[in-house]
Amino acid sequence: MYSYLDYINRVIIPWDEGKYVNHSCASNSTGLLEFDNISIALRDISPGDEIVEDYYCYFGHFESFDCRCGAPNCRRNIKQDNSYRADLRLSLYDVPPLLLSLPQPLPAIRSSENDDFLRVLHSCALTA
Ligand SMILES: [Zn+2]
Repeated sequence: MYSYLDYINRVIIPWDEGKYVNHSCASNSTGLLEFDNISIALRDISPGDEIVEDYYCYFGHFESFDCRCGAPNCRRNIKQDNSYRADLRLSLYDVPPLLLSLPQPLPAIRSSENDDFLRVLHSCALTA
């Protein structure tokens, strides 16, 4: 329930607040195409707002349920099988200037994936 599949079918169980991200068909956050475990806000998220992602941006998730998000584009029924839609994700190559202009907490969280992410992010910014 609190996990999803990444691009090589590893079961990802977020150790942080990511495990509390619920689904909405009108999400305010999504994953990156190039780094499965990095989420990016799609718009400003105010303190107290729930962070929601469209579960169809995940390679796999483990729930089928009736959605009651109230969005005009609500799919009503979220299915766990064959739901991945790459178009719901952002590309890292489209976001470096904005990402680098805002405070980023990732450098304090050391992991090889975060290090790779930051290295590519800075590389993209240099070529943009
Ligand atoms: Zn919905």
